[in-house]
Amino acid sequence: MTIDTLKLESLLSESREIVLVGHFNPDGDAVGSVTAAYHYLKARGKQPRIILPSPYPESMAFLEPEDPRERIVICERDPELARRLVAGADLLVCLDLNRLSRTEYLEQDILQSKARKVLIDHHIAAETDRFDLAVSTIDVSSTCELLFWTLMAMPDIAGDPDRIPLRCAESLYVGMMTDTNNFSNSVFPGTFEMASRLIARGVNKEALQEKVLSCYSVSRTRLMGHMVKDKMKVLPKHQAAYMLLSNKEKDRYHFLPGDSEGFVNLPLAIRDVRISALFTENFDGKYIRVSLRSKNEINVNRFAIRFFNGGGHRNAAGGRLYMPLEDVPAYFEQALEAWPEEEKFS
Ligand code: 5GP
Ligand code: MN
Repeated sequence: MTIDTLKLESLLSESREIVLVGHFNPDGDAVGSVTAAYHYLKARGKQPRIILPSPYPESMAFLEPEDPRERIVICERDPELARRLVAGADLLVCLDLNRLSRTEYLEQDILQSKARKVLIDHHIAAETDRFDLAVSTIDVSSTCELLFWTLMAMPDIAGDPDRIPLRCAESLYVGMMTDTNNFSNSVFPGTFEMASRLIARGVNKEALQEKVLSCYSVSRTRLMGHMVKDKMKVLPKHQAAYMLLSNKEKDRYHFLPGDSEGFVNLPLAIRDVRISALFTENFDGKYIRVSLRSKNEINVNRFAIRFFNGGGHRNAAGGRLYMPLEDVPAYFEQALEAWPEEEKFS
């Protein structure tokens, strides 16, 4: 893909109030991309602000701006401030989201804002026509990888990773590392190239792995054991497995945001399991969060669109169900039954 860095450069240099927005339930790629953009812009003398719709995992707090006045604004905690920032922006940069609805509470505010709008994202079917500039492709591991190549093409970086601020480089590495499950899926040749250049730049890969991937509590590790031992159901007929996580169990295991990260991948370690699903009761009990993963040839993005009010990527997708948790197993089995073969392998 070609990236219109001339346009991006002029949008950035003409803007004073830049606001960076990530998606609801932010993962490593969302936090990584908004903080990477922040640290890059900060080094350019800008004072960008970051908004995330809901809280992010504690393990990523070290990526936050150091200036307490520029801390990430969490829309669920501080909706007024978030709305004020969107309304006052002259440039809004949305990262790691393909539809404005993924900002949950902010869609209308963003649409109504007079700010110019940029999208940087790696999901299928991005709403590119809602933006003045869209950097969108699915041929990268993560938004952080796409942002890395975008920055490399900017005139001030000019292909030299040493010109990327170290904090920005660390954020980029974290987003790529988490979205690829530490180099186990969605890895492209450019992903290794990015990693190699960032490590040469001075990113300490082991330190980041320890901070982000080996950071859990005892109770989270016990919850993981409970899920695999007591909750995982295998459906050999469909080469599928699933787990349900209720709010009661979350309370029992002192659940924190990010604690179920990785659970959905666990059943895929079983030889004949090719589809894995995790169904999590949302904290307010209003809906069930759906997480789907698959092995190579199976397209769970299509599965999420058709049956789970969501979407995502070929091998990692998600969505929502509006039904009691106890009704989910029957619904899931019916969905597997009803899923057209040609779509499954599309
Ligand atoms: P996770 O299972 O890690 O929550 O999400 C995996 C991927 O599925 C995300 O990277 C995102 O692309 C997609 N995804 C998750 N939840 C939703 C959702 O509610 N709607 C849509 N469209 N995509 C989702
Ligand atoms: Mn992503």
